[in-house]
Amino acid sequence: MKKLAIIGGGIIGLTLANYVDLEKYSVTIYDNPVGQATKASAGIISPWLSKRRNKKWYQLAKDGAAFYTKLVQDFSLPASVYQQTGTLILRKDGELSSLMQLAQERKQTAPEIGEIELLTAEQVTEKLPLLKAQPALFITGGGKLDGASYLETLRQRALSNMITIKADTANLSRSHEQWLIQTPNGTESFDAVALCAGPGLPSLLGSLGYTTDIRPQKGQLLAFDTPFTESGSWPVAMLDGESDLIPFEDGQILVGATHENDGGFDLTPTEEAFSLLRQKTAPYLAESSFFENYPAVYRVGTRAYTSDFAPFFNYLPDAPSAVIASGLGSSGLTTGPYIGFLLAQYFNEAKSDWQDYQKPIETYLSK
Ligand SMILES: Cc1cc2nc3c(=O)[nH]c(=O)nc-3n(C[C@H](O)[C@H](O)[C@H](O)COP(=O)(O)OP(=O)(O)OC[C@H]3O[C@@H](n4cnc5c(N)ncnc54)[C@H](O)[C@@H]3O)c2cc1C
Repeated sequence: MKKLAIIGGGIIGLTLANYVDLEKYSVTIYDNPVGQATKASAGIISPWLSKRRNKKWYQLAKDGAAFYTKLVQDFSLPASVYQQTGTLILRKDGELSSLMQLAQERKQTAPEIGEIELLTAEQVTEKLPLLKAQPALFITGGGKLDGASYLETLRQRALSNMITIKADTANLSRSHEQWLIQTPNGTESFDAVALCAGPGLPSLLGSLGYTTDIRPQKGQLLAFDTPFTESGSWPVAMLDGESDLIPFEDGQILVGATHENDGGFDLTPTEEAFSLLRQKTAPYLAESSFFENYPAVYRVGTRAYTSDFAPFFNYLPDAPSAVIASGLGSSGLTTGPYIGFLLAQYFNEAKSDWQDYQKPIETYLSK
């Protein structure tokens, strides 16, 4: 049996670990979760109406969203982790009909979008009573994932399958075709490694002589504790101006998120984030003082992003026993599980037909 080390226990690392063939590999995950994006995040799985022009990214996000059907089945994900309650998309008047047209076009290759409907203002408040009456587009295929609950489910699954999880920061080096992982608790050698370290990837690859096009981006979201106990079944809302309203169970309403390119690895909650999210969201809400009426806690994490805001995943050109993945940016909950699955397939069956999803790996790596 070969030994595989996974560095990074976010959405990619833990999904990969749970799809690797454990008859072929004994698996150890190293994860120091400080600032982890997946744990901080809660998000919308609904990429179909994105205005991004990057076709490869869209292909990946579309296939990533479609992959959720398998993911939910394979890992028996409960509604507290993932729920397909549909997406409401709110736009200034006039733009909804062109969005409807786009949705119908996209449905030709992405039937997962489900039903597409233009809702009246009254129908919208019926579906999501938090919103002020206004028309919206509704698609039934959209879903919501709680990042921290997903990780906990997969972590328990991994532990019950005898996967080892170490809460250590790992350093990496190479010696005689083996990978050496050094932590404050000792050094261990492995036949293969998967580097799923989010914004920590440049530091790991730096020790192998690579420069990596990855930067940290600070993200903050607000989790409001409200009395709306029926919130679990409400759809998510994508608001014009890039803020999202994500109702979870037991009255927890999430509003997010910021994209702070200059925030580095800082994890301090800020009043500026609160004001910005209020400014973007409050005009859409039925209760104009929603932000003042309910207590909120911040969730802060560090995303990884590339110069072209596209993710990458591949084996290392000069060492195919190592795979790398990072740069998932603000759509990592959509693409992350599928990337984890594809990387597991690489280890299980040596499959690596990924050119439809990304630019060549040399775009992001240099030596
Ligand atoms: C506030 C917020 C809201 C978001 N909302 C959405 C959303 O609505 N929809 C969506 O699709 N995406 C969303 N995202 C983005 C998404 O969460 C990320 O893109 C995705 O979770 C990244 O997953 P990952 O596995 O690549 O990295 P991460 O989750 O960051 O995991 C990497 C892990 O590796 C660890 N690590 C790094 N270096 C080392 C080392 N040397 N040794 C040990 N461990 C190491 C890190 O500490 C971390 O735990 C959001 C992110 C944030 C922060």
